[in-house]
Amino acid sequence: MEALKHKIIEAGRVLPENVLKVDSFINQQIDVELMTAIGQEFAKRFADQKIDRILTIESSGIAPAIMVAQAMHVPLVFARKRKSLTLSADIYATKLFSYTTQQYTDVMVDKRFIQPGENVLVIDDFLANGQAVEGLIDILNQAQATLAGVGIVIEKSFQPGRQTIEAQGFRVESLVKIASLDDNQVQFAD
Ligand code: 5GP
Repeated sequence: MEALKHKIIEAGRVLPENVLKVDSFINQQIDVELMTAIGQEFAKRFADQKIDRILTIESSGIAPAIMVAQAMHVPLVFARKRKSLTLSADIYATKLFSYTTQQYTDVMVDKRFIQPGENVLVIDDFLANGQAVEGLIDILNQAQATLAGVGIVIEKSFQPGRQTIEAQGFRVESLVKIASLDDNQVQFAD
């Protein structure tokens, strides 16, 4: 997606530990026009599937996921993060390792918001090692829902997230692939 590449070149910043900061258009201030185009692009790529629901994780997945949900005319649910969860019969819960905070976090979705048998599209802002998506897949498995595919705004292709998810037979669509962030430079994969 060329507009997104241009925005990354213009406004993205490379931080230590292979982190790309995109807080001026995705993660804190949001470029709503670009986000709308992102939603439409995912809707087009997954138009061959009957999607019942979008699933993401708070907080940075919510903005792109809302736009996809709007473009596809389906509900959106996001997994909530908690320091620790009191397990209850009413929630699906899982534990994941957060790339940006380098800590384990409990995440949960209320059982009312994913129905067994639903075909669910997972959307997130970044794909690095795949932990966030793995956590969402675990929640979908608990809910006996089907993962229709994974839509990622920015994939860091030098990290193993895509391989891990594809190895389980799932489809991954990313709008921009980054091959390297070495020397504070963004190198796109294609
Ligand atoms: P993973 O779970 O695939 O290792 O990492 C994905 C999650 O970590 C995303 O939900 C995203 O919030 C965060 N993340 C991973 N890499 C980056 C990055 O380079 N920049 C930003 N802003 N977030 C990242």
